[in-house]
Amino acid sequence: MKKVLVCGAGGFIGSHLVKRLKKDGAWVRGADLKYPEFSPTAADEFLILDLREEKNCLAAVTLPDGGPFDEVYQLAADMGGMGFIHSAECEIMRNSALINIHMTHAAATAGVKRYFFSSSACVYRNMKADEPALTEDDAYPALPDNEYGWEKLYAERAAMAYGRRYGMTVRLARFQNCFGPEGTWRGGREKAPAALGRKIAEAADGGTIEVWGEGSAMRAYTYIDDMVEGIVRLMGSDLENGVNIGRPEYVSVDDLVATIAGVAGKKIHMKHIKGPVGVLARNFTNDRIRSTGWESNFSLKDGIARTYPWIRDQVEAGRKKAAKNI
Ligand code: NAD
Repeated sequence: MKKVLVCGAGGFIGSHLVKRLKKDGAWVRGADLKYPEFSPTAADEFLILDLREEKNCLAAVTLPDGGPFDEVYQLAADMGGMGFIHSAECEIMRNSALINIHMTHAAATAGVKRYFFSSSACVYRNMKADEPALTEDDAYPALPDNEYGWEKLYAERAAMAYGRRYGMTVRLARFQNCFGPEGTWRGGREKAPAALGRKIAEAADGGTIEVWGEGSAMRAYTYIDDMVEGIVRLMGSDLENGVNIGRPEYVSVDDLVATIAGVAGKKIHMKHIKGPVGVLARNFTNDRIRSTGWESNFSLKDGIARTYPWIRDQVEAGRKKAAKNI
């Protein structure tokens, strides 16, 4: 039986990935600062560990029989949407870099065979809406728009350096925005689809929600099942260096609001306010991940139709709880 470690298994993508790896028959250890928030972990074993500390990374990669893990998936990060990325630069640079420095070292020296790192589309420079698609090679010369992207580039390089030195196979995914049920939906770390879904769930039919920026920034949003499929295919592939994973359906923030409102069956007005928006546009090729046979199966609308009811239920449950406490 394949032995697998998932770091960040208490988070959104990590907890879904654990479910998939279990379904595929692996023995899975999860590691995180916290358990998954919305449903019990599917992992065989779950270690609560602060992976900024070297000794904890070593504990995470150590099996009772002393043998190495076949695979490590590193998804732990100090992470959030644009609001968080712009307000917590130092925390991101410090916490995520410490996790990645220690985890790549621990995995490589423990003899781990394959190492997956979750990088981001934030490694790329800003783009204009009508620019031709960037390939993975266009990450250099590097000019990420934010410190989160710089840390990801550094961590990619650290993983590759350890891979070369220790003969560890390294796979690097650069995720586009990912969304789905059981993703953070409040608290300041939520990303645009969840934040807007929450605002629309809270608004009355015909109501108004606040939207950061002018609403014209172009993005692609990838449903969680597509992302997990991409991770699994990339890890099993022979693709070296960065690999983009994202549904090539680019929409403006205003289009995203309209899609969510349509699914919610509400008429929603938007008030555009000042707020962190990030790059103007994104447009990347997915040829490398598609060479594994991967295709996105969920349109934005399909994904929102699976995600919005979950967010609405969370909002409703919160309302009921608050009413009970009055
Ligand atoms: P998430 O915040 O839900 O999950 C990250 C997990 O890392 C959390 O459970 C958190 O507790 C854990 N973590 C943070 N600090 C830790 C520490 N010191 N020790 C142990 N665990 C720690 O985020 P996610 O959306 O699941 O993202 C997973 C990975 O994918 C991250 O590396 C993120 O940067 C990357 N990524 C995500 C997206 C997206 O749209 N969700 C896009 C690009 C890249």
